[in-house]
Amino acid sequence: MENNQSVPIQPSLLEQVENGEIEAPDFPFYYCNEEESWVVSTEKCMLGGCDMELIRCKNEAEAYEKVLALSQGGNYRRARKACRACFDEYNDRLEFVESY
Ligand SMILES: [Zn+2]
Repeated sequence: MENNQSVPIQPSLLEQVENGEIEAPDFPFYYCNEEESWVVSTEKCMLGGCDMELIRCKNEAEAYEKVLALSQGGNYRRARKACRACFDEYNDRLEFVESY
């Protein structure tokens, strides 16, 4: 079967960031399959560094605009809490450790 997916002629913004062609923002943005949307992560998990607090964006351009806006004023991604998965894992380990 023919694959009709069009290949963009222009490199994506994400590729340009990775290639160092445009300024890399302090917030990651990418297409999230689970959200079925472009997302910007505004926080990271304090246990595993996972991306948290995702902002959904219409497309890559909007996501990049969002990270630029977020990066302004020296903002950076904070790690103030743990994501569900890491928290559960942490609790499991804690129960194990507490039995010493
Ligand atoms: Zn995590």
